[in-house]
Amino acid sequence: MTEGQVLGFIGIGRMGAPMSGRLMDAGYSLCIYDTNPEATKPLVARGAKLAKSPAEVASASEIVFLSLPTPPIVQAVVLGPNGVNHGNTVKTVIDLSTTGPSAAKTIAQALGERQVTWIDAPVSGGVPGAEKGTLAVMVSGPKAVADAVDPLLKVFGKTFYTGEKPGLAQVAKLGNNLLAAAAIVLSSEAVAMGVKAGLDPKVMIDIINAGSGRNSATQDKFPKAILTGTFDYGFATALSYKDVRLCIDEAEALGVPMIAGAVIRQMLAVTNAKFGPDSDFTSIAKVIEEWAHVEIRSKKS
Ligand code: NAD
Repeated sequence: MTEGQVLGFIGIGRMGAPMSGRLMDAGYSLCIYDTNPEATKPLVARGAKLAKSPAEVASASEIVFLSLPTPPIVQAVVLGPNGVNHGNTVKTVIDLSTTGPSAAKTIAQALGERQVTWIDAPVSGGVPGAEKGTLAVMVSGPKAVADAVDPLLKVFGKTFYTGEKPGLAQVAKLGNNLLAAAAIVLSSEAVAMGVKAGLDPKVMIDIINAGSGRNSATQDKFPKAILTGTFDYGFATALSYKDVRLCIDEAEALGVPMIAGAVIRQMLAVTNAKFGPDSDFTSIAKVIEEWAHVEIRSKKS
């Protein structure tokens, strides 16, 4: 892969937009597709070619990236009518989405029959990480192909090769995302207790971040989206719920009990039912606020 060659990118959403933007910053030309025409406008203004279907992207590019919401959407975009597998140029499909191992295996096998390689590359680090190029990129798939696309994946952050087995990197990602959601749930419970007792939540978060309770929610989500009351961190409740659901299902299939994990799944079910699938996943804190009859807000905001 050399600079100037056309890369495909499907799904120009919260994560896809900054990641595809970084590829353009690095000198690559893009052919893009998204069902939402608004999403593609900024990249088209920068010179990206707009395709009319995933198949058209896959006829313009040897390497096609996906950053799509759910496993059924990923599967339809790759294997459905006008899907990536109908393209005549594509050799490698790199899935940056959180798709889970089961769909990944199915899609990898179907593409393999057409000599197209599937590389799992789910990412962690949120929109800020996607903007800065500091994501953790978990990679699985044939080693030679993973090595060949590694310089591209490094545009997004730090790569971690996990093995050849399709979907293996997705398992790592699901474990990570269970912990990210759990951190919001437990941190909200701890801080709601503090607020009810009379503590300033900002002071309590500062204490936790200097102490042994610190975690990704107290270090990042609370200061940015909960203490401010903006609840706009950049990850939809429906997608976090999907990730935790996939995680618990995979654990069950592997015979690994996840008792605390099941509680986190139900907290996301409640948040999803109460605030809607498009709400930000930091809205988990609002559920706990309501139950505790407190507001976790910085006194300065
Ligand atoms: P998003 O909903 O903001 O973006 C998804 C994009 O895909 C949207 O622009 C949507 O219009 C487009 N899309 C939907 N269906 C399509 C289709 N059939 N064909 C083409 N485009 C289609 O989601 P996101 O937050 O960017 O997440 C994308 C993926 O990355 C998800 O799998 C998510 O779990 C994962 N992820 C998200 C974050 C985050 O913090 N937002 C972090 C890590 C991983």
